[in-house]
Amino acid sequence: MSKLSGSSSSKKAVIVGGGIAGLSAAYDLARAGIETTLFEKRPRLGGVIETQSWENCVFDSGPDSFISQKPEALALIKELGLESEVIGSNDHQRTTYILKKGRLIALPDGVMMIVPSKIMPMVKSPLLSWATKTRMGFELLRRPNGTPRDRSVADFVVDHFGQETLDYLAEPLLSGVYGGDPAKLSVASVLPRFVDMEAKYGSLGRAVMAAKRPPSGGSLFRSMRCGMSTVVDALAKFVTVRNQEVEAIEPGYRVRAGGDWMEADHVIIAAPAWSAAALVHGLDSELGKKLQEIDYSSSLTLTLVYRSSEFDGKRAGFGFLVPARERQRLAACTFVGTKFPNRAPDDKIVLRCFLGGAGDEAILSESDESVVTISRQELQRILGLTAAPVHQTISRWPRSMAQYTVGHIGRVREIRERVAKLPGLHLAGNAYEGIGIPDCVRTGRAAAKKIIEG
Ligand SMILES: Cc1cc2nc3c(=O)[nH]c(=O)nc-3n(C[C@H](O)[C@H](O)[C@H](O)COP(=O)(O)OP(=O)(O)OC[C@H]3O[C@@H](n4cnc5c(N)ncnc54)[C@H](O)[C@@H]3O)c2cc1C
Repeated sequence: MSKLSGSSSSKKAVIVGGGIAGLSAAYDLARAGIETTLFEKRPRLGGVIETQSWENCVFDSGPDSFISQKPEALALIKELGLESEVIGSNDHQRTTYILKKGRLIALPDGVMMIVPSKIMPMVKSPLLSWATKTRMGFELLRRPNGTPRDRSVADFVVDHFGQETLDYLAEPLLSGVYGGDPAKLSVASVLPRFVDMEAKYGSLGRAVMAAKRPPSGGSLFRSMRCGMSTVVDALAKFVTVRNQEVEAIEPGYRVRAGGDWMEADHVIIAAPAWSAAALVHGLDSELGKKLQEIDYSSSLTLTLVYRSSEFDGKRAGFGFLVPARERQRLAACTFVGTKFPNRAPDDKIVLRCFLGGAGDEAILSESDESVVTISRQELQRILGLTAAPVHQTISRWPRSMAQYTVGHIGRVREIRERVAKLPGLHLAGNAYEGIGIPDCVRTGRAAAKKIIEG
Protein backbone atom coordinates (compact mmCIF):
# COMPACT_ATOMS: atom_id res chain seq x y z
CA MET A 1 0.00 0.00 0.00
CA SER A 2 1.56 3.32 -0.98
CA LYS A 3 0.92 6.56 0.83
CA LEU A 4 0.44 9.67 -1.27
CA SER A 5 1.32 12.11 1.48
CA GLY A 6 3.74 12.18 4.36
CA SER A 7 3.66 13.67 7.87
CA SER A 8 0.44 13.80 9.89
CA SER A 9 1.75 16.38 12.39
CA SER A 10 0.23 19.38 10.57
CA LYS A 11 -3.48 19.67 9.78
CA LYS A 12 -4.32 18.01 6.47
CA ALA A 13 -7.59 17.92 4.66
CA VAL A 14 -9.08 15.91 1.83
CA ILE A 15 -12.11 17.03 -0.13
CA VAL A 16 -14.16 14.57 -2.13
CA GLY A 17 -15.92 16.25 -5.06
CA GLY A 18 -14.96 19.25 -7.15
CA GLY A 19 -18.39 20.82 -7.60
CA ILE A 20 -19.07 24.31 -6.30
CA ALA A 21 -19.42 23.05 -2.70
CA GLY A 22 -16.07 21.26 -2.68
CA LEU A 23 -14.32 24.11 -4.47
CA SER A 24 -15.68 26.72 -2.05
CA ALA A 25 -14.37 24.66 0.87
CA ALA A 26 -10.99 24.19 -0.83
CA TYR A 27 -10.69 27.93 -1.43
CA ASP A 28 -11.11 28.77 2.26
CA LEU A 29 -8.79 25.98 3.40
CA ALA A 30 -6.09 27.08 0.96
CA ARG A 31 -6.27 30.66 2.17
CA ALA A 32 -6.02 29.44 5.76
CA GLY A 33 -2.81 27.60 4.83
CA ILE A 34 -4.23 24.12 5.41
CA GLU A 35 -2.74 21.48 3.16
CA THR A 36 -5.67 20.24 1.13
CA THR A 37 -6.14 17.76 -1.69
CA LEU A 38 -9.36 17.75 -3.65
CA PHE A 39 -10.37 14.56 -5.42
CA GLU A 40 -12.63 14.86 -8.42
CA LYS A 41 -13.54 11.79 -10.41
CA ARG A 42 -14.39 13.67 -13.60
CA PRO A 43 -11.61 15.04 -15.81
CA ARG A 44 -12.80 18.62 -15.11
CA LEU A 45 -13.85 20.68 -12.09
CA GLY A 46 -17.22 22.32 -11.49
CA GLY A 47 -19.52 19.31 -11.08
CA VAL A 48 -22.75 20.27 -12.81
CA ILE A 49 -21.43 23.76 -13.58
CA GLU A 50 -20.20 23.74 -17.16
CA THR A 51 -20.02 26.60 -19.67
CA GLN A 52 -19.59 25.93 -23.36
CA SER A 53 -19.25 28.26 -26.29
CA TRP A 54 -19.64 28.16 -30.04
CA GLU A 55 -19.22 31.02 -32.54
CA ASN A 56 -19.62 33.83 -29.98
CA CYS A 57 -22.52 32.04 -28.27
CA VAL A 58 -21.99 31.28 -24.59
CA PHE A 59 -24.21 28.73 -22.90
CA ASP A 60 -24.29 27.01 -19.55
CA SER A 61 -25.25 23.39 -19.85
CA GLY A 62 -25.79 23.09 -16.10
CA PRO A 63 -26.89 25.99 -13.87
CA ASP A 64 -27.08 29.26 -15.79
CA SER A 65 -27.58 31.63 -12.84
CA PHE A 66 -27.88 32.06 -9.09
CA ILE A 67 -30.39 34.02 -7.08
CA SER A 68 -29.22 37.28 -5.56
CA GLN A 69 -31.55 37.02 -2.54
CA LYS A 70 -29.20 34.49 -0.97
CA PRO A 71 -25.90 36.37 -0.52
CA GLU A 72 -23.33 33.56 -0.39
CA ALA A 73 -22.59 33.18 -4.10
CA LEU A 74 -22.23 36.90 -4.70
CA ALA A 75 -20.04 37.27 -1.60
CA LEU A 76 -17.66 34.58 -2.85
CA ILE A 77 -17.59 36.09 -6.33
CA LYS A 78 -16.68 39.48 -4.85
CA GLU A 79 -13.87 37.91 -2.80
CA LEU A 80 -12.55 36.35 -6.00
CA GLY A 81 -12.41 39.81 -7.56
CA LEU A 82 -15.03 38.91 -10.16
CA GLU A 83 -17.73 41.42 -9.24
CA SER A 84 -17.35 43.27 -12.54
CA GLU A 85 -18.12 40.00 -14.37
CA VAL A 86 -21.53 39.63 -12.73
CA ILE A 87 -24.51 40.28 -14.96
CA GLY A 88 -28.22 40.37 -14.25
CA SER A 89 -30.96 38.82 -16.32
CA ASN A 90 -32.61 41.08 -18.91
CA ASP A 91 -35.59 41.78 -16.69
CA HIS A 92 -37.17 44.29 -19.09
CA GLN A 93 -37.75 41.32 -21.43
CA ARG A 94 -38.77 38.98 -18.66
CA THR A 95 -41.76 36.88 -19.59
CA THR A 96 -41.99 33.20 -18.88
CA TYR A 97 -44.67 31.17 -20.60
CA ILE A 98 -46.55 28.11 -19.44
CA LEU A 99 -47.95 25.63 -21.93
CA LYS A 100 -51.67 25.01 -21.47
CA LYS A 101 -53.78 23.04 -23.91
CA GLY A 102 -51.14 23.55 -26.59
CA ARG A 103 -50.99 27.36 -26.10
CA LEU A 104 -48.20 29.36 -24.50
CA ILE A 105 -49.67 31.60 -21.80
CA ALA A 106 -47.57 34.25 -20.06
CA LEU A 107 -47.03 33.73 -16.35
CA PRO A 108 -49.01 36.57 -14.75
CA ASP A 109 -46.92 39.37 -13.28
CA GLY A 110 -46.35 39.14 -9.52
CA VAL A 111 -46.63 35.37 -9.05
CA MET A 112 -44.27 34.26 -6.27
CA MET A 113 -43.77 30.59 -7.07
CA ILE A 114 -47.35 29.57 -6.23
CA VAL A 115 -48.86 32.69 -4.74
CA PRO A 116 -50.20 35.71 -6.62
CA SER A 117 -48.93 38.93 -5.05
CA LYS A 118 -50.82 41.16 -7.51
CA ILE A 119 -54.53 40.72 -7.99
CA MET A 120 -55.25 42.26 -11.42
CA PRO A 121 -52.65 40.39 -13.50
CA MET A 122 -53.96 37.13 -12.05
CA VAL A 123 -57.60 38.10 -12.63
CA LYS A 124 -56.90 38.96 -16.27
CA SER A 125 -54.70 35.92 -17.01
CA PRO A 126 -56.17 33.00 -18.96
CA LEU A 127 -53.73 30.64 -17.21
CA LEU A 128 -56.16 29.66 -14.45
CA SER A 129 -59.93 29.17 -14.56
CA TRP A 130 -62.43 31.41 -12.78
CA ALA A 131 -63.09 28.62 -10.30
CA THR A 132 -59.41 28.68 -9.29
CA LYS A 133 -59.30 32.47 -9.18
CA THR A 134 -62.39 32.52 -6.95
CA ARG A 135 -60.72 29.95 -4.73
CA MET A 136 -57.65 32.20 -4.53
CA GLY A 137 -59.96 34.98 -3.36
CA PHE A 138 -61.41 32.80 -0.59
CA GLU A 139 -57.89 31.78 0.42
CA LEU A 140 -57.40 35.35 1.62
CA LEU A 141 -59.87 34.61 4.43
CA ARG A 142 -57.88 31.73 5.92
CA ARG A 143 -56.63 32.00 9.50
CA PRO A 144 -53.71 30.20 11.17
CA ASN A 145 -54.66 26.66 11.98
CA GLY A 146 -52.47 24.72 14.45
CA THR A 147 -48.88 23.59 14.30
CA PRO A 148 -47.57 23.06 10.78
CA ARG A 149 -46.48 19.51 9.95
CA ASP A 150 -44.41 18.47 7.01
CA ARG A 151 -46.38 17.35 3.98
CA SER A 152 -45.95 17.20 0.28
CA VAL A 153 -45.81 20.33 -1.84
CA ALA A 154 -48.77 18.93 -3.77
CA ASP A 155 -50.93 18.60 -0.62
CA PHE A 156 -49.95 22.09 0.52
CA VAL A 157 -50.68 23.80 -2.81
CA VAL A 158 -53.95 21.95 -3.42
CA ASP A 159 -55.06 22.76 0.13
CA HIS A 160 -54.53 26.49 -0.45
CA PHE A 161 -55.27 27.04 -4.12
CA GLY A 162 -56.59 23.85 -5.70
CA GLN A 163 -55.41 21.29 -8.22
CA GLU A 164 -55.16 23.65 -11.18
CA THR A 165 -52.65 25.88 -9.35
CA LEU A 166 -50.59 22.80 -8.62
CA ASP A 167 -50.74 21.63 -12.23
CA TYR A 168 -50.10 24.95 -13.98
CA LEU A 169 -47.99 26.94 -11.49
CA ALA A 170 -46.32 24.95 -8.74
CA GLU A 171 -45.46 21.79 -10.66
CA PRO A 172 -43.83 23.44 -13.70
CA LEU A 173 -42.01 26.08 -11.62
CA LEU A 174 -40.66 23.54 -9.13
CA SER A 175 -39.86 21.07 -11.84
CA GLY A 176 -37.52 23.71 -13.29
CA VAL A 177 -35.66 23.91 -9.96
CA TYR A 178 -35.71 20.35 -8.61
CA GLY A 179 -36.71 18.19 -11.55
CA GLY A 180 -38.96 16.71 -8.88
CA ASP A 181 -42.43 15.37 -8.18
CA PRO A 182 -44.49 17.73 -5.97
CA ALA A 183 -46.37 14.74 -4.56
CA LYS A 184 -43.08 13.63 -2.96
CA LEU A 185 -41.23 16.90 -2.28
CA SER A 186 -41.37 18.25 1.27
CA VAL A 187 -43.04 21.63 1.58
CA ALA A 188 -41.02 22.39 4.73
CA SER A 189 -37.77 21.95 2.79
CA VAL A 190 -38.74 23.28 -0.60
CA LEU A 191 -41.04 26.17 0.31
CA PRO A 192 -40.10 26.97 3.93
CA ARG A 193 -41.03 30.62 3.56
CA PHE A 194 -44.60 29.73 2.64
CA VAL A 195 -44.86 27.32 5.56
CA ASP A 196 -43.85 30.17 7.89
CA MET A 197 -46.38 32.44 6.21
CA GLU A 198 -49.10 29.85 6.64
CA ALA A 199 -48.26 29.51 10.35
CA LYS A 200 -48.39 33.26 10.88
CA TYR A 201 -51.25 34.34 8.62
CA GLY A 202 -53.15 31.24 7.55
CA SER A 203 -53.56 32.80 4.11
CA LEU A 204 -50.53 32.80 1.81
CA GLY A 205 -52.15 35.43 -0.39
CA ARG A 206 -52.50 37.87 2.52
CA ALA A 207 -49.00 37.05 3.76
CA VAL A 208 -47.42 37.76 0.38
CA MET A 209 -49.30 41.03 -0.02
CA ALA A 210 -48.28 42.10 3.52
CA ALA A 211 -44.64 41.14 3.02
CA LYS A 212 -42.23 43.99 2.52
CA ARG A 213 -41.06 44.05 -1.06
CA PRO A 214 -37.31 43.56 -1.25
CA PRO A 215 -35.56 46.76 -2.36
CA SER A 216 -35.38 46.72 -6.15
CA GLY A 217 -31.58 46.37 -6.25
CA GLY A 218 -31.18 44.69 -9.61
CA SER A 219 -32.32 41.40 -11.00
CA LEU A 220 -33.20 38.36 -8.97
CA PHE A 221 -31.18 36.12 -11.29
CA ARG A 222 -27.47 36.82 -11.69
CA SER A 223 -24.93 35.12 -13.85
CA MET A 224 -21.38 35.65 -15.08
CA ARG A 225 -20.66 37.50 -18.32
CA CYS A 226 -18.71 34.55 -19.77
CA GLY A 227 -20.76 31.84 -18.08
CA MET A 228 -20.85 30.21 -14.68
CA SER A 229 -17.56 28.37 -15.23
CA THR A 230 -15.80 31.69 -14.62
CA VAL A 231 -16.33 31.09 -10.90
CA VAL A 232 -15.04 27.52 -11.13
CA ASP A 233 -11.92 28.62 -13.03
CA ALA A 234 -11.16 31.29 -10.42
CA LEU A 235 -11.58 28.84 -7.53
CA ALA A 236 -9.51 26.19 -9.29
CA LYS A 237 -6.42 28.41 -8.94
CA PHE A 238 -6.46 27.79 -5.19
CA VAL A 239 -6.85 24.04 -5.31
CA THR A 240 -4.58 21.02 -5.51
CA VAL A 241 -6.60 18.55 -7.53
CA ARG A 242 -6.34 14.85 -8.22
CA ASN A 243 -8.67 13.62 -10.91
CA GLN A 244 -9.41 10.34 -9.25
CA GLU A 245 -12.48 8.76 -7.70
CA VAL A 246 -12.35 8.29 -3.95
CA GLU A 247 -13.17 4.63 -3.43
CA ALA A 248 -13.11 4.27 0.34
CA ILE A 249 -12.67 6.18 3.58
CA GLU A 250 -11.41 4.40 6.67
CA PRO A 251 -11.33 5.66 10.26
CA GLY A 252 -8.41 7.79 11.07
CA TYR A 253 -8.87 9.11 8.29
CA ARG A 254 -7.43 7.10 5.43
CA VAL A 255 -8.73 7.86 1.99
CA ARG A 256 -8.28 5.50 -0.97
CA ALA A 257 -8.22 6.80 -4.51
CA GLY A 258 -6.84 5.01 -7.56
CA GLY A 259 -5.67 2.19 -5.27
CA ASP A 260 -3.43 4.51 -3.19
CA TRP A 261 -4.10 5.68 0.35
CA MET A 262 -3.79 9.19 1.73
CA GLU A 263 -4.01 10.20 5.38
CA ALA A 264 -5.93 13.27 6.48
CA ASP A 265 -7.11 14.83 9.73
CA HIS A 266 -10.24 16.11 8.06
CA VAL A 267 -12.37 14.87 5.18
CA ILE A 268 -15.07 16.95 3.56
CA ILE A 269 -17.39 14.86 1.41
CA ALA A 270 -18.85 17.29 -1.11
CA ALA A 271 -20.15 14.57 -3.40
CA PRO A 272 -23.81 13.59 -3.88
CA ALA A 273 -25.39 11.81 -0.90
CA TRP A 274 -25.53 8.47 -2.74
CA SER A 275 -21.76 8.68 -3.27
CA ALA A 276 -21.17 9.84 0.33
CA ALA A 277 -23.31 6.91 1.53
CA ALA A 278 -20.96 4.36 0.00
CA LEU A 279 -17.89 6.16 1.37
CA VAL A 280 -19.03 6.45 5.00
CA HIS A 281 -20.42 2.94 5.24
CA GLY A 282 -17.30 1.65 7.03
CA LEU A 283 -17.32 4.62 9.44
CA ASP A 284 -20.97 4.43 10.47
CA SER A 285 -23.30 2.12 8.54
CA GLU A 286 -26.42 3.88 9.90
CA LEU A 287 -25.11 7.16 8.54
CA GLY A 288 -24.61 5.43 5.20
CA LYS A 289 -28.22 4.21 5.24
CA LYS A 290 -29.57 7.67 6.05
CA LEU A 291 -27.56 9.25 3.25
CA GLN A 292 -28.80 6.58 0.86
CA GLU A 293 -32.38 7.63 1.65
CA ILE A 294 -31.84 10.99 -0.06
CA ASP A 295 -33.28 10.58 -3.52
CA TYR A 296 -31.88 12.17 -6.68
CA SER A 297 -33.34 13.01 -10.04
CA SER A 298 -31.52 13.01 -13.37
CA SER A 299 -31.78 15.52 -16.15
CA LEU A 300 -30.40 16.44 -19.51
CA THR A 301 -29.90 19.75 -21.26
CA LEU A 302 -29.80 20.13 -25.01
CA THR A 303 -28.56 23.44 -26.40
CA LEU A 304 -29.58 24.24 -29.96
CA VAL A 305 -28.13 27.16 -31.91
CA TYR A 306 -30.08 28.62 -34.85
CA ARG A 307 -29.33 31.30 -37.38
CA SER A 308 -31.70 34.18 -36.56
CA SER A 309 -32.50 34.59 -40.25
CA GLU A 310 -33.76 31.00 -40.40
CA PHE A 311 -35.60 30.91 -37.07
CA ASP A 312 -39.29 30.54 -37.98
CA GLY A 313 -40.71 29.79 -34.52
CA LYS A 314 -42.49 31.94 -31.95
CA ARG A 315 -40.12 33.93 -29.72
CA ALA A 316 -41.21 33.24 -26.19
CA GLY A 317 -39.56 35.74 -23.82
CA PHE A 318 -37.17 34.06 -21.37
CA GLY A 319 -38.67 30.74 -22.39
CA PHE A 320 -41.44 28.36 -21.43
CA LEU A 321 -42.29 25.60 -18.99
CA VAL A 322 -44.27 22.51 -19.88
CA PRO A 323 -46.46 21.28 -17.00
CA ALA A 324 -46.39 17.50 -16.40
CA ARG A 325 -50.02 17.30 -17.57
CA GLU A 326 -49.05 18.66 -20.97
CA ARG A 327 -45.55 17.13 -21.16
CA GLN A 328 -44.32 14.62 -23.66
CA ARG A 329 -40.55 14.76 -23.04
CA LEU A 330 -39.56 18.45 -23.08
CA ALA A 331 -39.93 20.02 -19.61
CA ALA A 332 -38.69 23.56 -20.27
CA CYS A 333 -36.89 25.71 -22.81
CA THR A 334 -34.89 28.91 -22.30
CA PHE A 335 -34.16 31.58 -24.90
CA VAL A 336 -30.58 32.05 -23.71
CA GLY A 337 -29.88 35.29 -25.59
CA THR A 338 -33.09 36.90 -24.32
CA LYS A 339 -32.59 35.88 -20.69
CA PHE A 340 -29.02 37.18 -20.38
CA PRO A 341 -26.99 39.82 -22.19
CA ASN A 342 -23.85 38.83 -24.13
CA ARG A 343 -24.88 35.23 -24.62
CA ALA A 344 -25.83 35.19 -28.27
CA PRO A 345 -24.92 37.58 -31.09
CA ASP A 346 -27.80 39.11 -33.07
CA ASP A 347 -27.45 36.62 -35.88
CA LYS A 348 -27.96 33.58 -33.60
CA ILE A 349 -30.77 32.30 -31.42
CA VAL A 350 -29.80 29.85 -28.69
CA LEU A 351 -32.40 27.56 -27.12
CA ARG A 352 -31.64 25.53 -24.03
CA CYS A 353 -33.98 22.56 -23.67
CA PHE A 354 -34.41 20.82 -20.34
CA LEU A 355 -35.52 17.18 -20.32
CA GLY A 356 -35.71 14.42 -17.74
CA GLY A 357 -36.43 14.96 -14.07
CA ALA A 358 -38.58 12.71 -11.90
CA GLY A 359 -40.71 10.48 -14.10
CA ASP A 360 -38.51 10.64 -17.19
CA GLU A 361 -35.05 9.51 -16.22
CA ALA A 362 -35.17 7.23 -19.26
CA ILE A 363 -34.37 10.18 -21.51
CA LEU A 364 -30.73 9.97 -20.38
CA SER A 365 -30.41 6.59 -22.12
CA GLU A 366 -31.66 7.89 -25.46
CA SER A 367 -29.03 8.46 -28.13
CA ASP A 368 -27.98 12.04 -28.90
CA GLU A 369 -29.72 11.76 -32.25
CA SER A 370 -32.96 10.68 -30.65
CA VAL A 371 -32.82 13.47 -28.01
CA VAL A 372 -32.42 16.04 -30.79
CA THR A 373 -35.24 14.52 -32.85
CA ILE A 374 -37.61 14.39 -29.86
CA SER A 375 -36.80 17.98 -28.87
CA ARG A 376 -37.13 19.35 -32.39
CA GLN A 377 -40.53 17.67 -32.79
CA GLU A 378 -41.68 19.28 -29.55
CA LEU A 379 -40.31 22.69 -30.49
CA GLN A 380 -42.25 22.41 -33.72
CA ARG A 381 -45.44 21.51 -31.83
CA ILE A 382 -45.02 24.30 -29.25
CA LEU A 383 -43.26 27.12 -31.13
CA GLY A 384 -43.96 26.13 -34.72
CA LEU A 385 -40.18 25.96 -35.22
CA THR A 386 -39.14 23.96 -38.27
CA ALA A 387 -35.65 25.42 -38.91
CA ALA A 388 -32.67 23.13 -38.42
CA PRO A 389 -30.13 24.08 -35.74
CA VAL A 390 -26.61 24.88 -36.91
CA HIS A 391 -25.06 23.61 -33.70
CA GLN A 392 -26.14 21.37 -30.85
CA THR A 393 -24.72 20.17 -27.53
CA ILE A 394 -26.09 17.64 -25.06
CA SER A 395 -25.14 17.36 -21.38
CA ARG A 396 -26.43 14.52 -19.24
CA TRP A 397 -26.68 15.01 -15.48
CA PRO A 398 -27.40 11.61 -13.91
CA ARG A 399 -28.51 11.57 -10.24
CA SER A 400 -27.50 15.18 -9.81
CA MET A 401 -30.49 16.95 -8.22
CA ALA A 402 -31.17 15.99 -4.60
CA GLN A 403 -34.86 15.52 -3.90
CA TYR A 404 -35.98 16.95 -0.59
CA THR A 405 -38.83 14.51 -0.03
CA VAL A 406 -41.27 14.68 2.90
CA GLY A 407 -39.32 14.23 6.16
CA HIS A 408 -36.09 15.65 4.66
CA ILE A 409 -35.43 18.07 7.53
CA GLY A 410 -35.60 15.25 10.11
CA ARG A 411 -33.42 13.03 7.93
CA VAL A 412 -30.76 15.73 7.60
CA ARG A 413 -30.91 16.43 11.35
CA GLU A 414 -30.13 12.74 12.03
CA ILE A 415 -27.34 12.80 9.45
CA ARG A 416 -25.79 15.90 11.01
CA GLU A 417 -26.05 14.34 14.52
CA ARG A 418 -24.29 11.18 13.37
CA VAL A 419 -21.59 13.16 11.55
CA ALA A 420 -20.96 15.19 14.73
CA LYS A 421 -19.91 11.92 16.39
CA LEU A 422 -17.19 11.44 13.75
CA PRO A 423 -14.78 14.31 14.45
CA GLY A 424 -12.97 15.44 11.34
CA LEU A 425 -15.72 14.29 8.96
CA HIS A 426 -17.82 16.96 7.22
CA LEU A 427 -20.57 16.90 4.62
CA ALA A 428 -21.32 19.63 2.09
CA GLY A 429 -23.24 20.01 -1.13
CA ASN A 430 -26.73 20.12 -2.51
CA ALA A 431 -28.10 17.14 -0.60
CA TYR A 432 -28.79 18.86 2.68
CA GLU A 433 -29.92 22.43 3.24
CA GLY A 434 -30.48 23.93 -0.19
CA ILE A 435 -30.04 22.91 -3.79
CA GLY A 436 -29.03 26.24 -5.34
CA ILE A 437 -25.50 27.49 -5.89
CA PRO A 438 -25.56 29.95 -2.94
CA ASP A 439 -26.61 27.11 -0.60
CA CYS A 440 -23.85 24.84 -1.91
CA VAL A 441 -21.28 27.62 -1.41
CA ARG A 442 -22.58 28.09 2.13
CA THR A 443 -22.29 24.39 3.09
CA GLY A 444 -18.81 24.13 1.58
CA ARG A 445 -17.54 27.19 3.39
CA ALA A 446 -19.21 26.12 6.67
CA ALA A 447 -17.33 22.81 6.52
CA ALA A 448 -14.04 24.63 5.89
CA LYS A 449 -14.75 27.02 8.77
CA LYS A 450 -15.14 24.11 11.19
CA ILE A 451 -11.73 22.79 10.16
CA ILE A 452 -10.06 26.19 10.33
CA GLU A 453 -11.53 27.03 13.73
CA GLY A 454 -11.47 23.49 15.13
C1 LIG B 1 -29.15 21.10 -15.22
C2 LIG B 1 -29.05 21.84 -13.91
C3 LIG B 1 -29.43 23.16 -13.83
C4 LIG B 1 -29.34 23.85 -12.62
N1 LIG B 1 -29.66 25.18 -12.58
C5 LIG B 1 -29.39 25.91 -11.48
C6 LIG B 1 -29.46 27.32 -11.50
O1 LIG B 1 -29.75 27.93 -12.53
N2 LIG B 1 -29.17 28.01 -10.34
C7 LIG B 1 -28.78 27.36 -9.19
O2 LIG B 1 -28.53 28.04 -8.18
N3 LIG B 1 -28.68 26.01 -9.15
C8 LIG B 1 -28.96 25.27 -10.26
N4 LIG B 1 -28.80 23.92 -10.25
C9 LIG B 1 -28.42 23.26 -8.99
C10 LIG B 1 -26.95 23.51 -8.63
O3 LIG B 1 -26.22 23.79 -9.78
C11 LIG B 1 -26.35 22.29 -7.95
O4 LIG B 1 -27.16 21.90 -6.86
C12 LIG B 1 -24.93 22.58 -7.45
O5 LIG B 1 -24.11 23.11 -8.45
C13 LIG B 1 -24.35 21.28 -6.90
O6 LIG B 1 -23.05 21.51 -6.44
P1 LIG B 1 -22.32 20.39 -5.56
O7 LIG B 1 -20.94 20.82 -5.37
O8 LIG B 1 -23.15 20.09 -4.36
O9 LIG B 1 -22.43 19.04 -6.42
P2 LIG B 1 -21.94 18.65 -7.88
O10 LIG B 1 -21.88 19.80 -8.79
O11 LIG B 1 -22.80 17.47 -8.26
O12 LIG B 1 -20.45 18.16 -7.64
C14 LIG B 1 -20.15 16.96 -6.98
C15 LIG B 1 -18.86 16.42 -7.58
O13 LIG B 1 -18.45 15.28 -6.86
C16 LIG B 1 -17.82 14.40 -7.77
N5 LIG B 1 -17.77 13.08 -7.13
C17 LIG B 1 -18.82 12.30 -6.77
N6 LIG B 1 -18.38 11.19 -6.16
C18 LIG B 1 -17.03 11.27 -6.13
C19 LIG B 1 -16.01 10.41 -5.63
N7 LIG B 1 -16.30 9.27 -4.99
N8 LIG B 1 -14.71 10.80 -5.78
C20 LIG B 1 -14.39 11.97 -6.42
N9 LIG B 1 -15.34 12.81 -6.92
C21 LIG B 1 -16.63 12.47 -6.76
C22 LIG B 1 -18.69 14.49 -9.00
O14 LIG B 1 -18.01 14.05 -10.14
C23 LIG B 1 -19.01 15.98 -9.03
O15 LIG B 1 -18.11 16.70 -9.84
C24 LIG B 1 -28.88 23.18 -11.44
C25 LIG B 1 -28.50 21.84 -11.52
C26 LIG B 1 -28.58 21.17 -12.74
C27 LIG B 1 -28.15 19.72 -12.80
